[in-house]
Amino acid sequence: MGKEKKKGSPDFDKITLCELDKDEIERSMEKIKNLVAHPRHICCKCARVANRSDLLCKPIAISPPEADPERS
Ligand SMILES: [Zn+2]
Repeated sequence: MGKEKKKGSPDFDKITLCELDKDEIERSMEKIKNLVAHPRHICCKCARVANRSDLLCKPIAISPPEADPERS
């Protein structure tokens, strides 16, 4: 027994995308796709994007394309 890192999918209520290692990314790719499908935030440290700001370590908001005032 003892201390063992859980091998299941990471809990995205507790971990940011920025913290994932490559094995966790591989195991959770389908879930991650859903979490980044409509990105509203980008991490200004890691350049990752996500639907929710709490999935990133240094999130800043990005505007959705449909809100672009330059578009005619
Ligand atoms: Zn980050």
